[in-house]
Amino acid sequence: MDTASAAAVETFRPQLLDRRVRLLAASAAVPAAYFNELIAEIDAALGRIDKGSYGRCETCHDPIEADRLAQDPLVRFCLDHLSQAELEAHQRDLELAAQIQSKLLPLPNITPEAWDTQYRYQPVGAVGGDYCELIALSEGESLFFAVGDVAGKGVAASLLMTHLSAIFRSLLSLDLSLTDVMSRANRLFCESTASAHYATLACGRATASGVELCNAGHCTPLLLKRDGTKRLDSPGLPLGLFCSSQYPVRQVSLDAGDSLVLYSDGITESQDVEGNQYEEERLIRSLWDHRERTTGAMADGVLQDVGRFRQSRPPSDDITLLIVRRRG
Ligand SMILES: [Zn+2]
Repeated sequence: MDTASAAAVETFRPQLLDRRVRLLAASAAVPAAYFNELIAEIDAALGRIDKGSYGRCETCHDPIEADRLAQDPLVRFCLDHLSQAELEAHQRDLELAAQIQSKLLPLPNITPEAWDTQYRYQPVGAVGGDYCELIALSEGESLFFAVGDVAGKGVAASLLMTHLSAIFRSLLSLDLSLTDVMSRANRLFCESTASAHYATLACGRATASGVELCNAGHCTPLLLKRDGTKRLDSPGLPLGLFCSSQYPVRQVSLDAGDSLVLYSDGITESQDVEGNQYEEERLIRSLWDHRERTTGAMADGVLQDVGRFRQSRPPSDDITLLIVRRRG
């Protein structure tokens, strides 16, 4: 038995048997014809497990995408071989998910008095697993900002991203310290997701007196000052790995015109046609080249630079870039 069929026996057989028991218990509530159809589908899936063909596309015999199988253990075809009707339904689901996700992105007009902000969010598919947040708190007196990256890709990652967004938005309404927000977000994320799920995230709170930063295993935030660029390292484990993690806060002072830059590894791990990565060093250079420009022009300039570096190679990961600049 290959590993895929062993996993099918272990994971999906009990799930399917459980589903069968539940369906039998609810038989009175379902029209007979529909009930028979559902039972037949479950039995066919159990039959495929016995034959060792479970989880393989019935057209091409390649493994079916794991996240689709996890969502619906009865799927029989890979994405490339869905029927036209299934394909259209799948497309509609994706469009709806993309619409829902776009509503979770920060509004473009968040401009608290002392800060100038810009972000760019480019998911590689219809939906993304990056998290980008900008929230004005205490009637504009402080600004919360974050960039995160949920492990995994596609719809499954985007669902975790919406979960993370809901956690942060509810915690931020409680007027907690930044370190408390982070440790509680970590606990909630950890307790409510599977152990294989985690997210890296860098976030901060900007007030008149300066900026506090926390980092949960995410790409190091960068501080662009008049005389050079500083990497703002601070320790912290990704969210969701261990239920009790501590997130020390780092204080950063920004002078007028200084920019703080948060980003996801979709930028630094962008590859050119030969497989070379863009790397942090190129990002720092690109930001520096655009330091005299507005935050919007700086963000666009960096993404154009990444695009030029990639040449014809398509992006393979979501890209997020967030700039917070102290107004002069
Ligand atoms: Zn196929």
